[in-house]
Amino acid sequence: MTALDLPRPAWMSEDVVLLEEQARRFMQSEFTPHLEGWNQQGMYEREVWTKAGAAGLLCATMPEQYGGAGGTFAHEVVINREISLCGFDSFGAPLHSGIVAPYILHYGTEEQKQRWLPRLATGELVGAIAMTEPGTGSDLQGVRTTAKRSGNGYVLNGAKTFITNGQHADLIIVVAKTDPTEKAKGVSLMVVETADAAGFRRGRKLKKLGLDAADTSELFFEDVALPASSLLGTEEGQGFAQLMRELPQERLIVAIHAMAMMERALELTIAYTKERQAFGRKIIEFQNSQFVLAECKTEATVAKVFLDHCIAQHLDGKLDTATASMAKYWHTDLLGKITDRCLQLFGGYGYMDEYPISRLYRDARVMRIYAGTNEIMKLLIARGL
Ligand SMILES: Cc1cc2nc3c(=O)[nH]c(=O)nc-3n(C[C@H](O)[C@H](O)[C@H](O)COP(=O)(O)OP(=O)(O)OC[C@H]3O[C@@H](n4cnc5c(N)ncnc54)[C@H](O)[C@@H]3O)c2cc1C
Repeated sequence: MTALDLPRPAWMSEDVVLLEEQARRFMQSEFTPHLEGWNQQGMYEREVWTKAGAAGLLCATMPEQYGGAGGTFAHEVVINREISLCGFDSFGAPLHSGIVAPYILHYGTEEQKQRWLPRLATGELVGAIAMTEPGTGSDLQGVRTTAKRSGNGYVLNGAKTFITNGQHADLIIVVAKTDPTEKAKGVSLMVVETADAAGFRRGRKLKKLGLDAADTSELFFEDVALPASSLLGTEEGQGFAQLMRELPQERLIVAIHAMAMMERALELTIAYTKERQAFGRKIIEFQNSQFVLAECKTEATVAKVFLDHCIAQHLDGKLDTATASMAKYWHTDLLGKITDRCLQLFGGYGYMDEYPISRLYRDARVMRIYAGTNEIMKLLIARGL
């Protein structure tokens, strides 16, 4: 499904196209029929994870020796697109597969990779990353959660908030200070398996403007005893550098998500304006509707060409922080404008929950905030001026 008339990008090889079709069929049969119920109950089912794992849709880029599909980022892209095109924007799988698992693959010891990656690939473990705290979000160096050495291991103390997959997560990468006297150099990534973590507590599933079925939550760690093997990698103080190296991919994933939402918004709006009538004409026959849709389609087309460029760069290992930040900022900003203009063409129905454009409009808003706010993206771009 797409409202844009662009040729298939070069990074979409035949096997990627096949995966896209397979993912679409699976999601339309397994997820789409349940979405409304999950939105109403404010959370999707835990078994979504194991179903997605069994269908080969988790950890597509992880090597086969660790239970993954051994694919490239291109495989991840089409899975993420299909999740969004089927309307399941609340699903935390892009974060689980494209953010949490790569931290373990890139920085974990052999033992850590063998211990965690296969179970992330099946959905037996659900992954989360806990950076944000009540007192600090954008300023990551200011985290107050501590992982203090104790005997052979660590003791973790702190509070995190707004954590995606917070209620379902079994494996949480916690950004903590192993040396609270330092800023960036004191940061380490601690991997917490919640099943064994006495003193770990999940707080509220937070009520929010959009992403109704997502379990965004508070998490609390009170004197949680961790073995030494919970430190991701072998050296303390590497956490900030690890975050900086992985964040471009996180930002690109958000841009990919935003692009799919734009395409869906356009598709829905074109279809609606061809059906609905006012003053004896179809809504799309008014010149204003045509101009609005022409503008949206033009801007979305330009956005997609840039996004395909960023994906190709990333596949070549050349996507830099500034360009990834441009993609995150530009696509999420544009998504806000496009969903707003599209919603207007639905009239009052655009404001009603049962019309997906209403949900798209609400879900889009957070994307300018999370994964680094768009203001922080502009700071990162400006650094290279
Ligand atoms: C639905 C949802 C899911 C999320 N999922 C996760 C998750 O899984 N894991 C996680 O760790 N976090 C998650 N977050 C948190 C998110 O990443 C943070 O909310 C975000 O980074 C901003 O931090 P903050 O809310 O503390 O805002 P603040 O940092 O307090 O910022 C407030 C305002 O000040 C601006 N600002 C801050 N610093 C500067 C500056 N230097 N220059 C200019 N402007 C500035 C910001 O842009 C913003 O507009 C999630 C948030 C939401 C809403």
